[in-house]
Amino acid sequence: MEKLSIVALVVVALLAFWAGSEYGFALKATEEKVERLEQWNKEVKLQLIKEGKYRCCLKEPCSYCLEHGECDCLDSVMEGNPPCGECLGELIEGEGNPYLDKELIRSAISKALAS
Ligand SMILES: [Zn+2]
Repeated sequence: MEKLSIVALVVVALLAFWAGSEYGFALKATEEKVERLEQWNKEVKLQLIKEGKYRCCLKEPCSYCLEHGECDCLDSVMEGNPPCGECLGELIEGEGNPYLDKELIRSAISKALAS
Protein backbone atom coordinates (compact mmCIF):
# COMPACT_ATOMS: atom_id res chain seq x y z
CA MET A 1 0.00 0.00 0.00
CA GLU A 2 2.80 2.33 0.97
CA LYS A 3 4.76 1.47 -2.17
CA LEU A 4 1.68 2.01 -4.30
CA SER A 5 1.15 5.55 -2.97
CA ILE A 6 4.80 6.39 -3.59
CA VAL A 7 4.45 5.17 -7.17
CA ALA A 8 1.25 7.20 -7.53
CA LEU A 9 3.03 10.28 -6.17
CA VAL A 10 5.91 9.82 -8.60
CA VAL A 11 3.47 9.43 -11.50
CA VAL A 12 1.59 12.58 -10.48
CA ALA A 13 4.87 14.49 -10.12
CA LEU A 14 6.06 13.32 -13.55
CA LEU A 15 2.73 14.27 -15.15
CA ALA A 16 2.86 17.71 -13.53
CA PHE A 17 6.43 18.21 -14.74
CA TRP A 18 5.50 17.08 -18.25
CA ALA A 19 2.45 19.38 -18.35
CA GLY A 20 4.54 22.26 -17.00
CA SER A 21 7.25 21.87 -19.60
CA GLU A 22 4.65 21.58 -22.38
CA TYR A 23 3.06 24.79 -21.10
CA GLY A 24 6.47 26.45 -20.91
CA PHE A 25 7.22 25.31 -24.43
CA ALA A 26 3.91 26.71 -25.67
CA LEU A 27 4.60 30.05 -23.96
CA LYS A 28 8.05 30.24 -25.50
CA ALA A 29 6.65 29.42 -28.93
CA THR A 30 4.11 32.23 -28.53
CA GLU A 31 6.81 34.71 -27.50
CA GLU A 32 8.88 33.71 -30.51
CA LYS A 33 5.90 34.21 -32.80
CA VAL A 34 5.25 37.67 -31.36
CA GLU A 35 8.91 38.55 -31.85
CA ARG A 36 8.83 37.27 -35.43
CA LEU A 37 5.61 39.17 -36.08
CA GLU A 38 7.17 42.43 -34.85
CA GLN A 39 10.24 41.86 -37.01
CA TRP A 40 8.09 41.01 -40.02
CA ASN A 41 5.87 44.04 -39.36
CA LYS A 42 8.94 46.35 -39.39
CA GLU A 43 10.41 44.77 -42.51
CA VAL A 44 7.19 44.97 -44.53
CA LYS A 45 6.60 48.60 -43.52
CA LEU A 46 10.18 49.53 -44.45
CA GLN A 47 9.76 47.88 -47.84
CA LEU A 48 6.44 49.66 -48.47
CA ILE A 49 7.98 52.99 -47.38
CA LYS A 50 10.82 52.49 -49.87
CA GLU A 51 8.25 51.75 -52.56
CA GLY A 52 6.44 54.96 -51.63
CA LYS A 53 3.32 53.08 -50.61
CA TYR A 54 3.44 53.77 -46.88
CA ARG A 55 3.02 57.44 -46.07
CA CYS A 56 2.00 57.62 -42.43
CA CYS A 57 1.45 60.71 -40.30
CA LEU A 58 3.09 59.26 -37.17
CA LYS A 59 6.61 59.26 -35.76
CA GLU A 60 6.42 55.44 -35.90
CA PRO A 61 4.26 54.33 -38.86
CA CYS A 62 0.92 52.77 -37.89
CA SER A 63 0.18 49.05 -38.27
CA TYR A 64 -3.53 49.39 -38.98
CA CYS A 65 -2.99 50.19 -42.66
CA LEU A 66 -0.50 47.36 -43.10
CA GLU A 67 -3.19 44.84 -43.94
CA HIS A 68 -4.15 46.99 -46.93
CA GLY A 69 -0.53 47.06 -48.12
CA GLU A 70 -0.47 50.86 -48.15
CA CYS A 71 -0.97 53.86 -45.88
CA ASP A 72 -2.10 57.31 -46.94
CA CYS A 73 -2.73 58.73 -43.48
CA LEU A 74 -0.18 61.47 -44.13
CA ASP A 75 -2.10 62.62 -47.21
CA SER A 76 -5.35 62.53 -45.24
CA VAL A 77 -3.94 64.74 -42.47
CA MET A 78 -2.28 67.08 -44.99
CA GLU A 79 -5.71 67.56 -46.54
CA GLY A 80 -7.19 68.16 -43.10
CA ASN A 81 -9.06 64.85 -43.18
CA PRO A 82 -9.11 62.11 -40.53
CA PRO A 83 -6.45 59.37 -40.74
CA CYS A 84 -7.04 55.73 -39.71
CA GLY A 85 -8.24 54.91 -36.19
CA GLU A 86 -4.80 53.98 -34.91
CA CYS A 87 -3.27 57.20 -36.25
CA LEU A 88 -6.13 59.21 -34.79
CA GLY A 89 -5.43 57.82 -31.32
CA GLU A 90 -1.69 58.35 -31.68
CA LEU A 91 -2.15 61.91 -32.97
CA ILE A 92 -4.31 62.68 -29.93
CA GLU A 93 -1.50 61.33 -27.74
CA GLY A 94 1.00 63.64 -29.49
CA GLU A 95 2.74 60.89 -31.47
CA GLY A 96 2.31 62.59 -34.84
CA ASN A 97 5.19 63.34 -37.21
CA PRO A 98 6.90 66.37 -35.58
CA TYR A 99 7.26 68.09 -38.96
CA LEU A 100 3.52 68.11 -39.50
CA ASP A 101 1.76 71.42 -38.98
CA LYS A 102 0.02 71.34 -35.58
CA GLU A 103 -3.02 73.09 -37.02
CA LEU A 104 -3.47 70.36 -39.66
CA ILE A 105 -3.27 67.72 -36.92
CA ARG A 106 -5.84 69.57 -34.80
CA SER A 107 -8.14 69.87 -37.83
CA ALA A 108 -7.85 66.14 -38.65
CA ILE A 109 -8.58 65.19 -35.05
CA SER A 110 -11.60 67.47 -34.68
CA LYS A 111 -13.05 66.34 -38.04
CA ALA A 112 -12.69 62.71 -36.99
CA LEU A 113 -14.30 63.32 -33.62
CA ALA A 114 -17.16 65.29 -35.17
CA SER A 115 -18.03 62.56 -37.67
ZN1 LIG B 1 -2.62 55.13 -40.20
